[in-house]
Amino acid sequence: MTIPTFVDLQGFIVGKKFVAKEVAVLREGTILSHYIFTCPIPWNYLTKSEKHCASWLGAYHHGLQCEDGMIPYSMTKRLITMAVIGAEWNWLQPSRPFTDSERRKVILLQDNARSLIAKNILETIYNLGWDILPHAEYDPDLCIINKSKLNETEFDTWFSEHGINCLGMEVQSMLEMFARAENLHGAQYKKYIGDGDTKTFAALLKHDDEVEKKECVNHVQKRIGSKLRKAKKTNKNIGGRGAGKLTDKLINELGTYYGLAIRRNSNDLEKMVDDVWTIFYHKISTNEKPMHERCPSGPNSWCKWRRAEAIGTLESYEHPPPLDSTVQKVIKPIYEDLSKEDLLKRCLGGFTQNNNEAFNKTIWQFMPKHSFCSKNIIEIAALTATCIFNEGFKPVLKIMEIMGITIGPNADFFACERNETRIQQAQQLMTYEVIERKMVRCNEMLETLQNFEEMEGILYGPGIAD
Ligand SMILES: [Zn+2]
Repeated sequence: MTIPTFVDLQGFIVGKKFVAKEVAVLREGTILSHYIFTCPIPWNYLTKSEKHCASWLGAYHHGLQCEDGMIPYSMTKRLITMAVIGAEWNWLQPSRPFTDSERRKVILLQDNARSLIAKNILETIYNLGWDILPHAEYDPDLCIINKSKLNETEFDTWFSEHGINCLGMEVQSMLEMFARAENLHGAQYKKYIGDGDTKTFAALLKHDDEVEKKECVNHVQKRIGSKLRKAKKTNKNIGGRGAGKLTDKLINELGTYYGLAIRRNSNDLEKMVDDVWTIFYHKISTNEKPMHERCPSGPNSWCKWRRAEAIGTLESYEHPPPLDSTVQKVIKPIYEDLSKEDLLKRCLGGFTQNNNEAFNKTIWQFMPKHSFCSKNIIEIAALTATCIFNEGFKPVLKIMEIMGITIGPNADFFACERNETRIQQAQQLMTYEVIERKMVRCNEMLETLQNFEEMEGILYGPGIAD
């Protein structure tokens, strides 16, 4: 039996020509060649649209950048042909007819790179008699490949079967992760922290009906912002300038306090519900009718009324103008909706997806996410990051020890000190003032993001996960 040759080719389009960047060839099942080539043209010489196209390919498709690679571009053809057939010939412009064995051996792992679905390339592949290795079943790349190959009705028939799976890629990988935990470790996930997308959880329930759904607190917090902004759009009279109007600044502030109410009471549902209302009643308080029972007491309280109370200057305290009565009428139902026990119960525990992000960041410290790394480096970075993320810097010493490096007392001291600093920094970041300052900055950013998301279609819309 002849073992086929697998080829994977990635690159960029420059001046309508395909510039090979990376090639991986597996010949006869054992001979693996992998090259990343330098760029034949300096980046500055590319036109705007070529740069755009190259950046797109790098960011969304193959993860390679123009500057990547060490092997001179002049060697491309020679190395690729050597890798594919084990001898030299010019494979794109054959000077001699192919022998039968050359024809039949090659299988191309074809994807949706423009370079590989262009008509002339498809023709060349066909003429060479290469076979095409299809992509994994749920690969969305397939849609684009097939769209270029099939006619409209054929594509529709194919997509009606494939499309459902393809679009459910997140669902599919989540199911895989849940099943993998059982196979590998005999352990079962008990909780699933969602971000508002219901499809995944519904599928998980079919797999294991005991999984409990939790909400990512950050995503829940976003809901109040989107609800308030929506209300402002539909009720023209509540926005605008003036005292007690629903301004963007106020929306951000209400969002922050809503988030805090959930986070600070992550083990106490009753208090959480109560705290959600705190800011509402604080904001509608007047000199005649102060309603600060729920506001925290003491001289350090954020509530100025409570502060005045603590230092005994309550008599001279003047309330700022309360929320406009029309504003009150509109936002009260929103607060009622978002203080429902059913929703807040899923926020108990104060789960977020922050840990995942924090872990990702630890990996990126070793391996910047925007530059291309080989599989080995990724593996080393991920494993080292896991050690540091879970246990601090001591395991790094252990790794060095296993590699045969003698660890002296100084190294041990540095590892301890580094851990200490890490904890101190984290504690500093947790102080009240720093959090407040951070929130302000965060909110400004969130606002931009949220406006964008609302334009994109409602991903985190209220009620979407109920
Ligand atoms: Zn108050």
